[in-house]
Amino acid sequence: MTAGIQERLLRIQERMAAACARAGRSADSARLLAVSKTHPPETIREAFECGVRAFGESRVQEARAKIPNCPSGISWHLVGHLQRNKVKPVVEMFDVIHSVDSLRLLETVDRASAEAGRRLDVLLEVNVSGESAKFGLSPDAIPDLLEGANSLMNVNVVGLMTMPPFAEDVEKARPHFRRLRELRDAWRGKTGFALDELSMGMTHDFEVAIEEGATWVRIGTALFGERAKKEVGNGEIHEEN
Ligand SMILES: *Cc1c(COP(=O)(O)O)cnc(C)c1O
Repeated sequence: MTAGIQERLLRIQERMAAACARAGRSADSARLLAVSKTHPPETIREAFECGVRAFGESRVQEARAKIPNCPSGISWHLVGHLQRNKVKPVVEMFDVIHSVDSLRLLETVDRASAEAGRRLDVLLEVNVSGESAKFGLSPDAIPDLLEGANSLMNVNVVGLMTMPPFAEDVEKARPHFRRLRELRDAWRGKTGFALDELSMGMTHDFEVAIEEGATWVRIGTALFGERAKKEVGNGEIHEEN
């Protein structure tokens, strides 16, 4: 089992490095976020022992049950949709939130972080494709959100995240990734936010995402194998039966 994760990790790291090289980027400019949703603490520990330190979870309830049983020294990232009534446990458990998609939510995270005595890094989830079924804010909403973020002291807006619609042909994802980078470049120039982080790319399309500028690739299946549960939407998981 450990050999399985170790081997898969090495293969992912090689592919990430090759994609960085193709894009003329340094190999350490794209980082792996191991998306461990549905996998038990023992599996997370195996990956930890292989050197992985950043893990992503998408459901608050699941994270709450698992995190206390995982090694300390992990940086926990929330990648799934966040409801405002779940913010308090989230700021206590997680270090980074990839899925902030409204000013109201950002303000709630700010207040809860202040109460918890923490300062969280957050990324704004942008719906680049304009598909109605997805979470994420419209690109037009980015300036208002950044404007609002200026006065919030307990959240650090570090970048943008996107999740394009699934397409068999990974080249179909490329324009979405490119658009996210262009939005970042535009708003970095017009605001005081560096927006260094671009969270984009999953098992199916992470190499394309790196070629287009991803700094975090969120990878589950390629590292841990297929999940036993069926997902719908943005990281929401429905049990089969
Ligand atoms: C599940 C999930 C991932 C990882 O997906 P894989 O295809 O298994 O790599 C990445 N990002 C989000 C938001 C997810 O919900």
